[in-house]
Amino acid sequence: MELTAPLIGISRHRLATDGVGVTTLVAFHGCPLRCKYCLNSQCQEPDGVWRQMDVAELLDFVMLDNLYFLATGGGVTFGGGEPCLRSEFIEAFCQKALREWRITLETSLHVKREHLQRLLPWVQEYIIDVKDLNPLIYKKYTNRSLRSTLNNLRWLLSHDGMAERIVVRVPHIPNHNTAADTAATIETLHDMGITRIDEFDYILPEEIKKSKR
Ligand code: SF4
Repeated sequence: MELTAPLIGISRHRLATDGVGVTTLVAFHGCPLRCKYCLNSQCQEPDGVWRQMDVAELLDFVMLDNLYFLATGGGVTFGGGEPCLRSEFIEAFCQKALREWRITLETSLHVKREHLQRLLPWVQEYIIDVKDLNPLIYKKYTNRSLRSTLNNLRWLLSHDGMAERIVVRVPHIPNHNTAADTAATIETLHDMGITRIDEFDYILPEEIKKSKR
């Protein structure tokens, strides 16, 4: 039977926003974290599923941009929500996808190790949002423990050449961390051997709404 997965959306023709070259972002429903300022809250809502797709349907959809992928070295970025929760679906997709497509995973790493193990042979690049590596800040912001995120990051880094394939996103989170907290997170990441760090400001959902008025 063909595997299916619930999606909150697919975005085509993305350039330099989530991976190398032109990418198609496939965003899954569902996430184990409960971030205070979730920008994709649709992924948490029971009625937030845009559509359910099987692997063959997704392949057909993504194939529309094959020429862009081949010309730019791009491919498919899986995000969400938390894409690792759909690791079997992604694996089945990758088994049938063109080898030239670059597969990128946007993840919090707050998942069971088995998902990461399943995806390891297929993913070229990881974009990891660690929130903040202070356990108290992480817990307050996500309502979950930092432990599995950190253990999974260490596990990924135990693979040869992995540090070059990882970009870690470190947000300044209003009302949750300070510049000193962020600096401490970056220092810890450097100590772990990570050099590709994307430090940025979270914009509160209400501010995004205001800017659209
Ligand atoms: S990890 Fe992302 S999708 Fe999940 S709750 Fe946090 S912001 Fe939302």
